[in-house]
Amino acid sequence: MRMDIAALFPDICTAVLNASITGRAIKEGKAQLFCHQLREYTENRQKQTDGYPYGGGPGKVMFVQPIVSCYEHVLEELNPQAQGLPSGENSETVPPDNSLVRPHVILLTPSGKPYTQADAVRLSQKENLFIICGHYEGIDERASILLEAEEISIGDYVLTGGELAACVVADSILRLLPGVLSSPENYEEESFWNGLLEYPQYARPAEYRGMKVPEVLLSGDHEKIRKWRQEKSLEKTQRVRPDLLENHKKAPS
Ligand code: SAM
Repeated sequence: MRMDIAALFPDICTAVLNASITGRAIKEGKAQLFCHQLREYTENRQKQTDGYPYGGGPGKVMFVQPIVSCYEHVLEELNPQAQGLPSGENSETVPPDNSLVRPHVILLTPSGKPYTQADAVRLSQKENLFIICGHYEGIDERASILLEAEEISIGDYVLTGGELAACVVADSILRLLPGVLSSPENYEEESFWNGLLEYPQYARPAEYRGMKVPEVLLSGDHEKIRKWRQEKSLEKTQRVRPDLLENHKKAPS
């Protein structure tokens, strides 16, 4: 997979995603990551990326032009055989649209669709992702429309910028790519995979400050352990996220 992130503070994404498990995956070539500075794609002398909103109101809105130019730059890299701008404006020199490799575009915004593990699984199957991070009051609406972006929110709260949201989305996708975790079991037993929250986990020591690890986990009886974990998983989901349990019951088994 190739992942491109367009942002005003791309160093945040570079630093986060080049660390730990995702960093190792990138180093080992299991994924390619390019974090773009949107300022470099401006077409004005001041390299300005944002301006006052039409209609008035507080704050600044990010311009559509640098975002579209950055996307077109990536499109050119993905389609070295296509000459000229693959934007459609230069139709005589560009092959028909359907012959171009186009990244799936994600635009991060609190007004997007709430992001879930199912989205991470679906997006991990894409070859190319282009992730747009907003800042200030957000992004000119035309960027989303022109690039046919999937608008995603990582939760019902507002961050300063989309960079942290991009890291969240990118991390959740990268860890699902083949070979990034040692085995699919690493994520298939985790929360949300089967619609429930994960059971409680324990590691050494068997007793800490008088608190003992549940006897069943020391029994070596795999079937008993499996049943205990299933029970605990249901119990926790019922207590913390009853909404998940409702959907779990509705889902075909
Ligand atoms: N004015 C926007 C609104 O009310 O929906 C909020 C803009 S926010 C301060 C700046 C940027 O941070 C957004 O453009 C988006 O890229 C990012 N952002 C903030 N909260 C987010 C969230 N919950 N999910 C995804 N992106 C978020």
